[in-house]
Amino acid sequence: QILLSDVDLSLGSGAARVHILKGLGLSVAPGESVGIVGPSGSGKSTLLMVMAGLERADRGGVEIAGERLDRMDEDALARFRGRRIGIVFQSFHLMPTMTALENVAVPLELAGRRDAFARAEAELAAVGLGHRLHHHPAEMSGGEQQRVAIARALAPEPAVLIADEPTGNLDAETGEEIVRLMFAAKARRGATLVIVTHDRALADRCDRRIAMRSGEIVEDVRLAPRAVATV
Ligand code: ATP
Ligand code: MG
Repeated sequence: QILLSDVDLSLGSGAARVHILKGLGLSVAPGESVGIVGPSGSGKSTLLMVMAGLERADRGGVEIAGERLDRMDEDALARFRGRRIGIVFQSFHLMPTMTALENVAVPLELAGRRDAFARAEAELAAVGLGHRLHHHPAEMSGGEQQRVAIARALAPEPAVLIADEPTGNLDAETGEEIVRLMFAAKARRGATLVIVTHDRALADRCDRRIAMRSGEIVEDVRLAPRAVATV
C-alpha cells in the first residue's frame, strides 16, 4: 500500500542545504496504522511530505496504492493526492475565509465531485460538527478546527490518511477525541494510517511504531494488538 525504497532527499541551498532523508525504505500494509516518533529535526515531517507527494525525493521510489508517485507529472500527482491521500497537520491549515462546510466541500468540488456539498455535510456530521457548518475557522475552537481538517482529509475516502502531530496544538482531552476519530476512520474504511507524534503513548496505540533519527529509521516495532476499549 505504501512502499518507499531508498528515498533520499536534501533541501535548502548553499550553506543551508541539509541531507534530510538518507536512503530510507519503508513498507506499510493496507489498513495498517503506523506511529512515527523521533527527535526534532530527524526528518519526520519531511518523510510525510514525500509520502503525501507534496515533496519530491531526489532519488528512490515512492509507491502508494500501486501507483508510482515519483513517476507522475505535477498534474497527475495533484489529482492523485486529491483522490487517494488525506492529510492532517498540527496547525489545521484551514482556509480562513471559508466556512467549515466550504473548507471540506471546495476541494471535493475542485476534484470534480458533483455531490461535494452533500458529502461535506455528511462528513462534518460524522465528526460531530453538524451544528458548525457555517462557522469560519476563527469562530471555532482548536479541537473543532482539527475536526474540520479531519473531515476534509477523509471526505474523498482516501486510501491513506497521513497526520503530522495532529494533537500537538490541542489539550489532552480534545487530542484524544481527534485520535479516536482517526482510528475510527481506519477501522470503518480500512484506511492506512500514518501518524507522526511526539506522544509515545499515541504511537504505541498503532499496529507499528517506527523511530527516526537523522533521516534514517532506527527502530521498527510491531506492537501487540490492544484490547479495544469499551465505552
Ligand atoms: P519536528 O519534530 O521538530 O517537527 P521533524 O522530524 O519533523 O522535526 P523535519 O521538519 O522533517 O523534522 O526537518 C528535518 C531537518 O531538515 C531539520 O533539521 C530542518 O531544519 C531541515 N529542513 C527541513 N526543511 C528544510 C528546507 N526546506 N531547507 C533546508 N532544511 C530543511
Ligand atoms: Mg515535524
